[in-house]
Amino acid sequence: MALANIQDKARVVIIGGGVIGCSVAYHLTKLGWKDVVLLERKELTSGTTWHAAGLIAQLRATANMTRLAKYSQELYGTLEDETGVGLYDMSSFGKIRVEGPDATAFLNHICGGEMDVPVGKIVYAQFLNTRGGIEADVTITRLSELTYLVVTPAATRLADETWMRRHIGDHMVVITDVTAGEAVLAVMGPKSRDLLSAVSPNDFSNAANPFGAAQEIEIGMGIARAHRVSYVGELGWEIYVSTDMAAHVFETLLAAGESNGLKLCGLHMMDGCRIEKGFRHFGHDITCEDHVLEAGLGFAVKTDKPDFIGRDAVLAKRESGLKRRMVQFRLGDPEPLLFHNEPILRDGKIVGHLTSGAYGHHLGAAVGMGYIGCEGETANDILASSYSIDVAGTVVRAQASLRPFYDPSGDRMKS
Ligand SMILES: Cc1cc2nc3c(=O)[nH]c(=O)nc-3n(C[C@H](O)[C@H](O)[C@H](O)COP(=O)(O)OP(=O)(O)OC[C@H]3O[C@@H](n4cnc5c(N)ncnc54)[C@H](O)[C@@H]3O)c2cc1C
Repeated sequence: MALANIQDKARVVIIGGGVIGCSVAYHLTKLGWKDVVLLERKELTSGTTWHAAGLIAQLRATANMTRLAKYSQELYGTLEDETGVGLYDMSSFGKIRVEGPDATAFLNHICGGEMDVPVGKIVYAQFLNTRGGIEADVTITRLSELTYLVVTPAATRLADETWMRRHIGDHMVVITDVTAGEAVLAVMGPKSRDLLSAVSPNDFSNAANPFGAAQEIEIGMGIARAHRVSYVGELGWEIYVSTDMAAHVFETLLAAGESNGLKLCGLHMMDGCRIEKGFRHFGHDITCEDHVLEAGLGFAVKTDKPDFIGRDAVLAKRESGLKRRMVQFRLGDPEPLLFHNEPILRDGKIVGHLTSGAYGHHLGAAVGMGYIGCEGETANDILASSYSIDVAGTVVRAQASLRPFYDPSGDRMKS
């Protein structure tokens, strides 16, 4: 805050925003003190505090100092849940309405997922080709008995719409691109429920709005749809709001977020988080040349449906076994960065390359994913090898995993 805007009186004024000053402000406000001002001459933690990030030694010279160190470590573990909520703009999503008497049958024909679901349900699905390759990676929300909203990445909106039109056959459906009609504000993080509850009278509990479901809501002076999904691995909602109300809803969230620690985030944040969570990205990790089972997305394909494009290829791959597999990697050294295309070495030999890479701020090292050959191998065989990544000529040891490194059970999204 600029100096001119600072109040000239307060019950408590704390000078210095290092760990001690921030801690005093935190604990006083936790006790209910409202009139607390913290003055920092540069940036928070820009003094000696940043040096201490590596270690909170637990055994100190006195019993009280030891207690304090122990308390600090326990407190840091809870701070993220108390403060975490971010907002980023996903209005660039393609939005395509598919409606008509054959909407369910048509989408069941072109998607691997089951689309005969209750109104309000959101299905994560792929459009497959006859080789089992992934033509599109989308979420589809059933808006009514006869209407679905297909949400596509911005870059593939036209390709995904074209794929649907090419396969419409005799189905009685109308396909309409409504991308420009709605903005999408992604509100993500452990405090997203608190933030939305502050700006909307609707119920965001697990009972009223479970993971994978959408509901119509009032928000500020507007009407929107809250889709409970997440591409960053956290509790959160994508708020679909008509474009005429988008600025108002954004300002409403921003104003309420001031007291909730809301941070505006960008797409690098999204990329880092989704790679930590092992979420695939169309165009990088999955394309029309990548078989849906080898990409690790078999959970989204429902072969008990009688027919859909790619079903035979999925059944055949289940019979023959996987030839390659998507594996996630975390560097053993926290320093080097990954961007994608870096060679993957298995027991010293190059066996593939990273299709995605970013810094994993939660995991404390760069993370990436890529395919490696695995014909005739079990998961244990794959993980028994030693892996490294060639980062611009320097070979760096890496940990491999077939499950997400971050919250593998997905509990955070469903909390
Ligand atoms: C190299 C190094 C390594 C360390 N490693 C560890 C470690 O591993 N583990 C550990 O527990 N501790 C470690 N420490 C000690 C630890 O960093 C300090 O004890 C702790 O950061 C002190 O916090 P503080 O809030 O008192 O001070 P600081 O973090 O220095 O904060 C003081 C703040 O006050 C601001 N300020 C100063 N004057 C004014 C003014 N007039 N008006 C407004 N603002 C002002 C400054 O800009 C600064 O942000 C290390 C220290 C150093 C130097």
